Amino acid sequence: MSTTPDNTSPEEKPSFGFSTRAIHVGQDPEPITGAVTVPVFQTSTFAQDAVGKHSGYEYARTGNPTRTALERAFASLEEASFGVDFSSGLAAEDAILRMLDPGDHVVIGNDAYGGTFRLISKVFGKAGITWSAHDLTDPAALAVSWLDKTKIVWLETPTNPLLNVFDIAAVAKVAHDNGALLVADNTFATPYLQQPLNHGADIVVHSTTKYLGGHSDTVGGFVATNEAQIDTHLRFIQNSVGAVRGPWDVYLTLRGAKTLAVRMDRHLANAAAVVDLLDGHEAVAQVMYPGLASHVGHEIAKKQMSGFGGMVSFRAAGGRDAAIRIIESAELFILAESLGAVESLIEHPGVMTHASAEGSPLEVPDDLVRLSVGIEDEADILADLAQALQAGC
Ligand SMILES: *Cc1c(COP(=O)(O)O)cnc(C)c1O
Repeated sequence: MSTTPDNTSPEEKPSFGFSTRAIHVGQDPEPITGAVTVPVFQTSTFAQDAVGKHSGYEYARTGNPTRTALERAFASLEEASFGVDFSSGLAAEDAILRMLDPGDHVVIGNDAYGGTFRLISKVFGKAGITWSAHDLTDPAALAVSWLDKTKIVWLETPTNPLLNVFDIAAVAKVAHDNGALLVADNTFATPYLQQPLNHGADIVVHSTTKYLGGHSDTVGGFVATNEAQIDTHLRFIQNSVGAVRGPWDVYLTLRGAKTLAVRMDRHLANAAAVVDLLDGHEAVAQVMYPGLASHVGHEIAKKQMSGFGGMVSFRAAGGRDAAIRIIESAELFILAESLGAVESLIEHPGVMTHASAEGSPLEVPDDLVRLSVGIEDEADILADLAQALQAGC
């Protein structure tokens, strides 16, 4: 790994394949000992050679070599010039939204992570930022109803929890034609399946808590961009506000991401089998998965993604109570919030992850069940889901 002060220098454009970059970029053997694995630099401060003369690292809020390794690796996965690691996905979103001034407006999709909506409406609302929710499947309608004060369009695709798919390039064009930035939350797709900057997004944000870390053992966020000015803003905010992670958590996330490609391939295969089981099952009214030919966003997903992801949602035919019976009958699928890790999870977005959207344009149906399909054996996943679905019949 590099201990040179290059944590603000642009990442080289990728020449290696995705998995090679995940394992090697920013992760050269440590120069003093030859350690093959990036060390956990568990230190808050760094010795200086002379007053004002340092190695590139001064104080660990500002920068830490373990963090630099992750930032270089993850930026390269998004084929981005710059990347910043944050203490959580929401801390990363907060740093992005601090680009706004009082009076500015944010357009948010009418289906998005509940916490993003809470941050924009309840926290930035108090700071004089306004917002409106739009159906981003119709970029032309967004252009017609455009408010001049809109500075950011916030898009998540596929969305959490309804698995809607939005056309990144089409929404980027509307945003850019009107002088706004497009932020894309790429948490569900991961850079393995979709690289929003290559479709016109200006900023990509991740909750690395999910697939990038992949093992339900850390909370983290990441922002990637090709704009030096945006990178400078993010680093200024992070250094001023302090939303950094300790090196141990950074190390775990970086280790997790080395296997992202192989994990995603298994997530995709298992999710496809789960969709086959759900589709047409008597306990299921509707399956939401971008890989289904019947999904309204299927063609867009095929255009901008190289696979349809490991998240599957469905509406229970028997309504809210049946949804809850199914969820509580699952045994291998663990009843828990979060997603994107090796183990399969099941949850009720209306009561759990998306409770903060109740009564808003982002409210989710109360018969909705969300699955994060893990990488266990397919037969075990299907057997558990089949027995849980019986409770909904
Ligand atoms: C979890 C999640 C977030 C928030 O990330 P945290 O790491 O929990 O702060 C943002 N966007 C999406 C799509 C998520 O699933």
